[in-house]
Amino acid sequence: MKYNFGAGPGKLAKEVLAEAAVAVRDFNNTGLSILEISHRSEHFIEVLNETEQLARQLLAVPDTHDIIFLQGGASSHFAMVPMNLLPDDGTAIYLDTGVWSSKAIAEAKKFGRVSVVASSVNADYSFYPKEYTVPKDAAYYHFTSNNTIYGTGTFETPQVDIPLVCDMSSDIFSRDIDVSAYSLIYAGAQKNTGPAGMTLVIIKKGILGRTGRDIPTIFDYGVHVAHRSLYNTPAVYSIYVTMLNLRWLAAKGGVSVIEQENIRKAALLYQEIDDNPLFSGTARKEDRSRMNVTFVMNSKDLEYEFSTFASQRGIVGIAGHRHVGGFRASLYNAVDLKAVEFLVETMREFTRIKQY
Ligand code: PLP
Repeated sequence: MKYNFGAGPGKLAKEVLAEAAVAVRDFNNTGLSILEISHRSEHFIEVLNETEQLARQLLAVPDTHDIIFLQGGASSHFAMVPMNLLPDDGTAIYLDTGVWSSKAIAEAKKFGRVSVVASSVNADYSFYPKEYTVPKDAAYYHFTSNNTIYGTGTFETPQVDIPLVCDMSSDIFSRDIDVSAYSLIYAGAQKNTGPAGMTLVIIKKGILGRTGRDIPTIFDYGVHVAHRSLYNTPAVYSIYVTMLNLRWLAAKGGVSVIEQENIRKAALLYQEIDDNPLFSGTARKEDRSRMNVTFVMNSKDLEYEFSTFASQRGIVGIAGHRHVGGFRASLYNAVDLKAVEFLVETMREFTRIKQY
């Protein structure tokens, strides 16, 4: 038995994986694999429609917003967002809370002026800056809602007077959000949405076409909206498994139900980190992520021993990101409470053996 707390590419429930595996051999009794059906066929259009409808229902996406499924990963939107929303002579506002937002900032600078309104870089990205004002005359305000690497997250929708853009790659579908407040949300599929290879983008109608820029066709959000994600070959398999995963989430009761589960899972692990004399959390308490729990051992020499102990018990994927070291347990939707209880029990058992 393996308990996978890996940060990525992602995590899917066993039931979803089982259905996905069947469709690789024979999709819906067509005698064809999901990997070989035409993306223009009726079969796939049905998949695309249901995936969109499930995403719309689970995230309560209003009719004012379009949903598209693109290739290229979340990183392609670090460039596509400014390409589509930032005029040459305009300014975009960014909040710098980690590696992903700083990559987004670097790309935006290639298209216009960028103002970084606040940054937690000098504190190893251990918190979310809160004291700053977003100017009213900028093209948009961009932030990252969950920092997969540093284990910080914000659960509030920023109140700004300009279009709000968010990279929700690692927390979308983990908690209720007010989509109507956002002009654009993008999220790489591979955490809570589906397998890597697809990015979900939610765009408010009417915000495109204002830069005056001649955008290369494949990078133009408007083209993908007009073609309903079929301008070019979409990530067929990734979209199909996303549909299965969103059906799974809907059957569990939807996002507000999984949110409560995610709160319980994270609280349990943080409690152990705070109570156990061998471990310490790295993120400021009020900004702790529910998806990626980062922690270190108070005595660095025990880290290797604890890693080995945990892996002998079937725990995988808890090594911290190479930028931060220590440990990171990712608690995506498909990681159940039992797995978190097992990790906590393993930490306690290790502490007992060490006679703390
Ligand atoms: N943004 C966040 C918050 C992420 O966690 C990741 C990857 O884990 C990315 C962006 C980059 O995504 P991709 O590898 O799909 O380009």
